[in-house]
Amino acid sequence: MHGLMQDRPLTLPHVFHRAERHFADKTIVTATAAGETTATYAQWAQRVRRLATVLDALGVETGARVASFGWNTQRHLELYFAVPCTARVLHTLNIRLSAEQISYIAGHAEDDVVFVDRSLLPLLWPLAEKLTTVRHFVVMDDGSDAEVPDDPRVHDYETLLERAAPYEGEFHVSDENTAAAMCYTSGTTGNPKGVVYSHRSSVLHSMVALTADSLALSERDTLMPVVPMFHVNAWGLPYAGVFAGSSFVFPGPAMKPEALVTAIERHRVTVTAGVPTIWMGALPLLREHDVSSLRVVVGGGSAIPTALSEGWREAIGVPITQAWGMTETSPLASAATLRSHHDELDAEGLVELRATQGQSVPLVDLRIIDPDTGVEQPWDATSPGELQARGPWIASAYYGDADTDAFTSDGWLRTGDVATMDAHGYVRLVDRTKDLVKSGGEWISSVELENHIMAHPQVEEAAVIAMPDPRWTERPLACVVPAEGARLTAEDIVEHLRERVAKWWLPDEVRFITELPKTSTGKFSKKNLREQLLS
Ligand code: ADP
Repeated sequence: MHGLMQDRPLTLPHVFHRAERHFADKTIVTATAAGETTATYAQWAQRVRRLATVLDALGVETGARVASFGWNTQRHLELYFAVPCTARVLHTLNIRLSAEQISYIAGHAEDDVVFVDRSLLPLLWPLAEKLTTVRHFVVMDDGSDAEVPDDPRVHDYETLLERAAPYEGEFHVSDENTAAAMCYTSGTTGNPKGVVYSHRSSVLHSMVALTADSLALSERDTLMPVVPMFHVNAWGLPYAGVFAGSSFVFPGPAMKPEALVTAIERHRVTVTAGVPTIWMGALPLLREHDVSSLRVVVGGGSAIPTALSEGWREAIGVPITQAWGMTETSPLASAATLRSHHDELDAEGLVELRATQGQSVPLVDLRIIDPDTGVEQPWDATSPGELQARGPWIASAYYGDADTDAFTSDGWLRTGDVATMDAHGYVRLVDRTKDLVKSGGEWISSVELENHIMAHPQVEEAAVIAMPDPRWTERPLACVVPAEGARLTAEDIVEHLRERVAKWWLPDEVRFITELPKTSTGKFSKKNLREQLLS
């Protein structure tokens, strides 16, 4: 027997129309070179409707890829809706990738049009001739004085919008499995791979950010996505925020800690999200600003050092909520929110809990598999295995690449992360498979070593990498950036670790460096570190 409910597709047009009707007076603020712009949802929605007909006028076909090359801005949010609501596919290009990677990705996705912030033209325009599928470049003038090329392919965003008639009536995408957006993994190994999100996956993923045991995002919130809109759709927050009717604050190009903290203070931001390096930069400024409006600060993308989360909690009473995910998981798959049984934990227990990657969010299943036997490991908080994920917003394949071992024959995504799971399903990431230190047939978790080293008061940043070793295969090498004015020796670091980890985990060598290399999404780049130090 079938249920007798209406079969309504889960599509972004619904999210858009709901926001347009219900939240017309909510605001979207964007920091610009000249100050700030503010629009209401009503004004934004009108512009989305105009942008929809601009895409028609540019001859962009249904299903074609529309690329963006931009900061976190209101205009980017216009693209986030106008493109998928008209059944085209938004492809957010990562502005921090190398020229080769950008042209590879744009060519692989066969981007038809690129919308680019004027301040980013100097990065993109030199590649124009390599972007052979791109017919139009639409420049979003953000007040920068970067030269706009005199070329028939180049158009001005505001002029196009002004001339366009707004799309009338309701947007309609009939099949919820239609592609809505795509994003490439940053290609730490091999070429970047394309992940294609559908309307259905985007709507369901947004819904879960509104649930109480994840972010509890609501209409009352003022949301500032610091994580870039080119990094896994700013972790889905733009769609989730519009769904909830939250006010938005977009930092634009103003990504320095001072600008971010000032924006939180000025606009009474309640929810924000970013990678740990961003929150490390902001930590010393917290006591100089009134950021008491903050309710949730999400950190993810790499492990949140305990010292960082505790630093925030001590400064403003709000720790960092750790979330875990990947480009392939949309990305929200787990979050370290507290369950009722955690009320019994003492302060130390809570610190431990916040250092986990949390429990899977509703609709996502996680399991850990022993790499040698292929058998699922028990949820005993100690048995490690490869973390695998399944759910309606988890990738089932890569775009145009049939040949991959990232998916199991029974339909799970192999994440390449190694983790343990406790009895309640809280995941603790031991390491990435490729970052584990394999010493004498056993694993050493670089993540755990880093966490302890960064808890040393005189340490600013640390990363641990595997050093080839003739006897043990690999041994840990700790790379440490001392805090300003610190007087540290290698022995101090080893002594600090001696009380905290097994003897055979102690790094064989500690090197002091002035800065850790970062990836295009602001994470510590162990790949570059290995190249710098070991080649
Ligand atoms: P890239 O592989 O280029 O870093 P992603 O942004 O998709 O691209 O990164 C996904 C990876 O980031 C995960 O597989 C995991 O290793 C790491 N990661 C994400 N969130 C966390 C977290 N909270 N703690 C530890 N690692 C994390």
